[in-house]
Amino acid sequence: MDKVSESVSLLQQATSEFSESIVFACSFGAEDVVLLDLIARHHLQIRIVTLDTGRLPQETYDVMDACRAQFGLDIQVYFPQADDVEVMVRKDGVNLFYDSIEKRKACCHVRKILPLKRALVGAKAWVTGLRKEQADSRADMKAIEDDKAFGIKKFNPLLAWTEKDIWTYINENDVPYNKLHNQFYPSIGCAPCTRAISVGEDPRAGRWWWEQQEDAVAECGLHASPIAKK
Ligand code: SF4
Repeated sequence: MDKVSESVSLLQQATSEFSESIVFACSFGAEDVVLLDLIARHHLQIRIVTLDTGRLPQETYDVMDACRAQFGLDIQVYFPQADDVEVMVRKDGVNLFYDSIEKRKACCHVRKILPLKRALVGAKAWVTGLRKEQADSRADMKAIEDDKAFGIKKFNPLLAWTEKDIWTYINENDVPYNKLHNQFYPSIGCAPCTRAISVGEDPRAGRWWWEQQEDAVAECGLHASPIAKK
């Protein structure tokens, strides 16, 4: 079975086990648009959610709408609670993430983690676009795991895909993708926290690049296998 068939088979298994209660939290990165295409193409009953942190680059909004138009999927957008953002910004400023790792994590908590928790209410499983190749810490990941952080099952249909597999699929199937990928942004998050990388840099080097501490991790807490910065 080829990788595409294996991924579709896992997604079908997920939907048959968790129909009506499986969620795909889509960030519109390269892996996630592949998953959107597979979900749409195979009419899989998976609820699609995305987090609008309020700080996304315009290119992410562009691909969001392009996917909505191309796939005809109901993409449910979750925003941070206005009260939470107002309290945080009044206390620490709108660019608090540059001040310290703690404040960056606090911002991700308000703008990402809490909205994701709301998006996952009632979910018994979720789908991710994680790949083993992305980090050593993901080498031992399984296609189906228990997500202890959220207390639900986690399906990782693209674990075995390489970056080349992802881009071959996108190009062959004319899948919309975030145009920042054309400008050396392999990993795209919020606009103030993402920059392009140089040749030879780690793919995650463009995320929270100002954090130089050895123990800094280029993750926001959505997944349990943080990637240590190289
Ligand atoms: Fe805030 Fe940056 Fe995290 Fe976005 S990536 S939620 S702006 S700290």
